[in-house]
Amino acid sequence: MGASRVAMAAVAALLVSTAPALAAGKDAKVWAAAEKARAGQLDLLEQVVNIDSGTGDIEGGRKVTALLVPRLKALGMTIETVPAEIPGLPENTVATLTGSGKARILMIGHIDTVFGPGTVAKWSYSVEGDHARGPGVADEKGGVVEGLYALQILRDLRFTNFERITFLLDTSEERGSPGTRALIDRLVRAHDVELNLEPGDAPDVITVWRKGSMTLNIDVKGRAAHAGVAPQDGRNAAVELIHQLAAVESFPRSGDGLTVNLTTIQAGTRHNIIPEAARGQINIRARQKADLDRVEAAVKESAKSTVVPDTTVTVSRENAFPPLANNPATDALAARAQAIYAGLGLKLATGGNGGASQSALAYEAGTPALDGLGPVGGGFHSEKEFMDLRSVTPRLYLLTKLIMDLSANPPKK
Ligand SMILES: [Zn+2]
Repeated sequence: MGASRVAMAAVAALLVSTAPALAAGKDAKVWAAAEKARAGQLDLLEQVVNIDSGTGDIEGGRKVTALLVPRLKALGMTIETVPAEIPGLPENTVATLTGSGKARILMIGHIDTVFGPGTVAKWSYSVEGDHARGPGVADEKGGVVEGLYALQILRDLRFTNFERITFLLDTSEERGSPGTRALIDRLVRAHDVELNLEPGDAPDVITVWRKGSMTLNIDVKGRAAHAGVAPQDGRNAAVELIHQLAAVESFPRSGDGLTVNLTTIQAGTRHNIIPEAARGQINIRARQKADLDRVEAAVKESAKSTVVPDTTVTVSRENAFPPLANNPATDALAARAQAIYAGLGLKLATGGNGGASQSALAYEAGTPALDGLGPVGGGFHSEKEFMDLRSVTPRLYLLTKLIMDLSANPPKK
């Protein structure tokens, strides 16, 4: 960056501070702070990635929290430790920073990953070219660390023009936040805006819609019998389950709209016994709630009749997140984010994806929400997961500036 451009950016920064809605040009101070933060940011990221914290790993989750909480306290934040709402999960953390302004801003991140204990021993943090790799590196440890450093920059710049900034560290997002649901509901209602630190999508996309998700459990009860001696006495639950699965065959398995996928099957106990019980799980994603209901109705209708006599089929529904539908409040936030990014000479695209998040709960509560604000990543929920290192500093700048912009002009609920 040339010297003249630095000077212009500084002038622009002054203009921005008095007229944030314009958000024109680069804020040289914030950019410099984001660049300065980078080494520490990546060092902390490596530390948190190298702690296994799959959902339900209480010890691992507590270790990650123990690494983050002292840093949040050092930023002047008040820490509330909130027990999970169901057993088997580590505590959630609510960190609050109080300022002198009027905006109430909520940042949500999650510290759980989809990777079980022992993953880090086989696959730890590494850097290859422009990609950082490791379990949860982008989903969502990169976002959590970004949130912490945005707060650090605000503190370093002595920015306090907000009533409060609340940072929730959720410990069960990858299972639909069953341990945090009431807490999220309370927090989204008590804030003017929700900023979600899920990873951005490649090449540089923020998230303005998300699919809702639900699981249908299909349980078949039959009758056990020796497969050689008296197979005629058995009622094969596995065979009945296979017939029941036909009910979802006609729904799409991929695409931007409704998707319906068989994800687990369990049946039988021994090779020579007719299975007494069988369970299949169907994972459903949709952009409209009505689509979720439609699939449930089809599966329940099918369950009313069986092909294998004397078997019974029950269907139960587990909701994870409702959809975050396209909406004007989110689009308005996205436009503000794009204006900030344009000040860097970068283009920020908007999009959506099938991964659910807490932003849908904000949307349901009528609180404007913007999602996908973490660093850009890909290969989520697989060993291909990566975080794009080129996005780290622009995304930290974006989040910090967005908080400053929203502080001056909080969206109207
Ligand atoms: Zn995530």
